[in-house]
Amino acid sequence: MNHIVYLALGTNLGDRPANLRAAIKALPPSIFHRQSSSIYETPPWGVEDQPSFLNMAVKCETTLEPEPLLKRIKELEVQLGRQQSYHWGPRLIDLDILFYDDLILNTGQLTIPHPRLHERAFVLVPLAEIAPDFIHPVLKKSVKELAANVNTEGIELWK
Ligand code: ADP
Ligand code: MG
Repeated sequence: MNHIVYLALGTNLGDRPANLRAAIKALPPSIFHRQSSSIYETPPWGVEDQPSFLNMAVKCETTLEPEPLLKRIKELEVQLGRQQSYHWGPRLIDLDILFYDDLILNTGQLTIPHPRLHERAFVLVPLAEIAPDFIHPVLKKSVKELAANVNTEGIELWK
């Protein structure tokens, strides 16, 4: 049984476009890449004194259940060279699970839909390119509607 997942990718260290490309390329067959948004350059969020980010969203098909999927993408982050940093600090690559079908899940380790996606323009703007009509299963609003309700100032299509 395959599941549709949307992942958010972010990077603000090193060769940022190369980091995004490497992350997509490193996705294993169990997380099959189907579609990518454009790349956006976005101001740092939370902790503002750090380099700006490149962000994008991807759609994948996966055979993995949610927790193995999280484990796998965390391994991928390490494999791609991510070092421990502070919460919301600079990172080589960050992979977050945004949606997993229309599942609602909340364990200690994993919350789906991603708990902050609806307030993050740097997630919603790229996501709205590839999933405008996807309905947030908790908020019951489309991605397009959510994106229309956040401040997108400073978010720029990257080249
Ligand atoms: P950030 O919040 O800055 O992305 P991390 O990437 O270090 O920070 O993630 C911290 C933890 O968030 C992960 O180890 C994971 O257990 C937890 N988490 C909870 N829900 C999700 C989700 N939907 N996608 C990714 N990580 C999640
Ligand atoms: Mg993360």
